[in-house]
Amino acid sequence: MALTGPPAAIPGREDPPDRRPAPPPSGDATEPQATPSPLRERPAGHVPAVGRTRFPAVFAILAISPLMRLAALRYAVPPGLPSRAGCDACDAPVGLTRPWPALGPAARCGRCRARVGPPPATVELAVLAAAVLLTFAGPPGGALPALIWWLGWTIPAILVDLAVHRLPDRLTLPAAAGTWLLLGVAALDADPGHWLRAVLGGTGLALFFASTAVLLGRRGFGLGDAKLALSVGALLGWYGWPVLLFGLVLTFGLSALVSLGLLATRRANWNTHLPFGPFLLLGTTAALLLAT
Ligand SMILES: [Zn+2]
Repeated sequence: MALTGPPAAIPGREDPPDRRPAPPPSGDATEPQATPSPLRERPAGHVPAVGRTRFPAVFAILAISPLMRLAALRYAVPPGLPSRAGCDACDAPVGLTRPWPALGPAARCGRCRARVGPPPATVELAVLAAAVLLTFAGPPGGALPALIWWLGWTIPAILVDLAVHRLPDRLTLPAAAGTWLLLGVAALDADPGHWLRAVLGGTGLALFFASTAVLLGRRGFGLGDAKLALSVGALLGWYGWPVLLFGLVLTFGLSALVSLGLLATRRANWNTHLPFGPFLLLGTTAALLLAT
């Protein structure tokens, strides 16, 4: 596997190839992608930024899906291996200079036609669902840019978690840094108490997850989950402690339901480790759409 490759990009950033050992596998449970949720009326005066432009914005957002595909493809490798730079079958390089068709919805290598990266159409459907939900039902207030930033990094991170049970630092840490920064900018026009609560929520949730990793080992959460919790806790905390609690209830409830379903259908046993990242994504998004 080649060590070098094009920069793994994601909204406005470049990432050099990742050669560090991966964080330990994450906690619990399955199933990806955007959150179905009833569309809701926005209170008057709160028109989300995305809502003003509607469909052109949806296309613009879809245009970033090759970047997300590239990030998911690069980092979906087992712990300790260098990030992937091309097709596993024929070694053809995959990058933004030659995105088609490997980074398109078909997810096929241009040379040997083997599957490359996340399953066909998954990234595009996740991005489209997120764009439509945010356009018509996104949370009010200045935290919308932070949420869009967070989704841009977290959707590929979750695809990596589903593929290899790890949440790469290269995706979770920029997600957290940008979310905290954008919430800080939003706080300039809002009550600074929102930002303080976001920082406390992110730090507290990350410390809780990390402490289970240290105290319970493989039975606790992964450190990747703890790093994702930095941004999850901040986004939920911005809207208040009840929203944070609601997001956690949804996350753990969904994880328990899926785990019980897998146990009942004998597709998992009590020792199976399911990735927890997808539940954090779904629980957080659902809480923000339903409770704000
Ligand atoms: Zn190939």
